[in-house]
Amino acid sequence: MQLEDIKGIGKTTIKYLNELGIYDALDLINYYPFRYEIIENTDMNNLKDNDKVVIGGIVENKPNVIHFNRKLNKMTFRLNIGNFIANITIFNRAFLKDKLNIGSQITVIGKYDQKKSTITASDIKFGLIEETLIEPIYHSSFKITSSKISKIINYALDKVKPIDYLPKSITQKYHFIDKEKAIKIVHNPKKKIELKKALDRLKYEELFIYMLKINYLKNSQKKGDGLSRNVSYEEVEKIIDKLPFELTLDQIKSVKDIYDDLTSKNKMNRLIQGDVGSGKTIVSFIALYINYLGGYQGALMAPTEILASQHFQNIIKLFPNLKIVLLTGKLKAKEKREIKEKIESGKANIIIGTHALISEDVTYKNLGLVITDEQHRFGVAQRGNLKNKGKTPDILYMSATPIPRTYALTLYGDMDISSIRTMPSGRKPVKTFVKTNKEIKDVLYMMLDEIKKHHQIYVIAPLIIESEKIDLENVLKLEEKMKKAFGKVCNIGVMHGKMSANEKEEVMENFKQNKIQILISTTVIEVGVDVKNATMIVIFDSFRFGLSALHQLRGRVGRNDLDSYCILISDKETKRLEILTKTNDGFKVSEEDFKLRGGGDIFGLRQSGEMNFKIANIKNDYDLLLKAKEDSASFIKSKEYQDKQYEYIKKVIINSSNLD
Ligand code: ADP
Ligand code: MG
Repeated sequence: MQLEDIKGIGKTTIKYLNELGIYDALDLINYYPFRYEIIENTDMNNLKDNDKVVIGGIVENKPNVIHFNRKLNKMTFRLNIGNFIANITIFNRAFLKDKLNIGSQITVIGKYDQKKSTITASDIKFGLIEETLIEPIYHSSFKITSSKISKIINYALDKVKPIDYLPKSITQKYHFIDKEKAIKIVHNPKKKIELKKALDRLKYEELFIYMLKINYLKNSQKKGDGLSRNVSYEEVEKIIDKLPFELTLDQIKSVKDIYDDLTSKNKMNRLIQGDVGSGKTIVSFIALYINYLGGYQGALMAPTEILASQHFQNIIKLFPNLKIVLLTGKLKAKEKREIKEKIESGKANIIIGTHALISEDVTYKNLGLVITDEQHRFGVAQRGNLKNKGKTPDILYMSATPIPRTYALTLYGDMDISSIRTMPSGRKPVKTFVKTNKEIKDVLYMMLDEIKKHHQIYVIAPLIIESEKIDLENVLKLEEKMKKAFGKVCNIGVMHGKMSANEKEEVMENFKQNKIQILISTTVIEVGVDVKNATMIVIFDSFRFGLSALHQLRGRVGRNDLDSYCILISDKETKRLEILTKTNDGFKVSEEDFKLRGGGDIFGLRQSGEMNFKIANIKNDYDLLLKAKEDSASFIKSKEYQDKQYEYIKKVIINSSNLD
């Protein structure tokens, strides 16, 4: 059913609803309140000054109205609330006067003013509330209010029937209420208990479908229809022996996992998880090499141009005999065409790039392996796209965000995981300090010390230029300040997201070659960048960032055996930031972050559209999620799943082979 067919909706309203992502009646009834206002009758015996009051009673006298001007007015009356009579004052509601007849039952919402012993009302509702009044609050906009949305949804509720995705056995197992009823309740809750039941029902369903998709992916991948390669492990060892450093045991284990996957008939779907600086890149390069020896093209996709070009420069040094190309969005049309041709003809063995690898119409000759670096930065949709470029290429993801184990089970439930837990030998933990803006002098002296040692420094600010709205440090102002302080002793460079890819790359290159000693930047350098001589990172207004993001930033330093430092400057939330001074373990950091902020925020998933649940919340509904995980795993193996009546569930799963 279309929005036009719903009573009371005009063209403008439809436009506003569209802006909220609502396109038809089903969207409308699936547009859940994001919270509820719970209004309960106040116990009038223990009232203190300024307490919130909700009380029902009977109007005692005809209200008295004083008009200050055309809009401003004050109305007073007395309300009989059983054991005593309260004085009520309400502003600018003179229009209610005629409705407030002596003897009418009303509920007053407001605040208690002890001195005047009156209740200053903010709202009056006609009728008494029995126990609790629960008001759904919707995400709204300036153009359309929550209560208007509520009204429209109520028109729609009787007109459309929601689809129930839960199998019968599940509904019976948990004695879930009917879906249609549950939806009606979440939009019009009367009692807390019934609301909880309805919410649980809908949350569970959402999680169940999500986990069913994961289980489906997992099952469909293990069928032995992957590519296999005829490569001996000796050949892999030969290349490992040529590396300028010795691999850590975990790196070797990861290489072995990948080797086994690539040489077996099973499709690889593997995540390499390892803290910043643990050395995931080299493992991925070796994977590309194994894949090459097996006779296939391989692609490595990085989230930023800087990172892609860094990978490119490193890999051509490592494998000078292979034909490796770099494909990014900033290439000129002609270069791009040439590179695409090399990819299509099979002349290119390895392709490094940004999302240009998927957004452009690139055809591969025989793509066998796809690697995504900093996996959490990509949306699942993007992941899926690259997958489809080859017939059934093997997939390897790398993620620097250590994920709490239980959480990983869910998010990456369809993948095998190799973990790199130990850092390359000789690494020292980054010494981390929290400083306030008042202590900036200390910080400048610490910076000077590093400069004198010919080391390099990152300086991070949350903004590029000054903002009227928020008072935060910005890159351009910091450039001025830093030039004042250090302009005579070193070179200072600036980098931010508004610069072109070429400009950014030039600055980065200058920093790498130590032509610049202090690099002032926004968080564009957050991921992956690897400059060994950088030993200090100073992060202004660091309260603006999540702990995991700060940990990633901190990972830019401490990339060799020099002492290195991370300085978090903040006047706020210093307690939270102190967590970073106590641990260098990304796993612990992410668990703390998880406790504080919930999953979606940490992993940047909300912005990438991943795990965008409508009603469930991965953090608060974790128990429900675990149930859904178990139930969906057994459901997908059951006879019930094979039954025709669940075709619609299969459609949901198969149509979205990605987890959107
Ligand atoms: P990340 O896991 O964060 O992507 P990188 O792969 O960028 O980390 O590795 C960080 C740095 O450590 C790189 O400069 C890399 O060359 C170096 N490195 C990787 N493995 C080892 C090792 N086994 N021994 C010494 N240095 C290593
Ligand atoms: Mg990396």
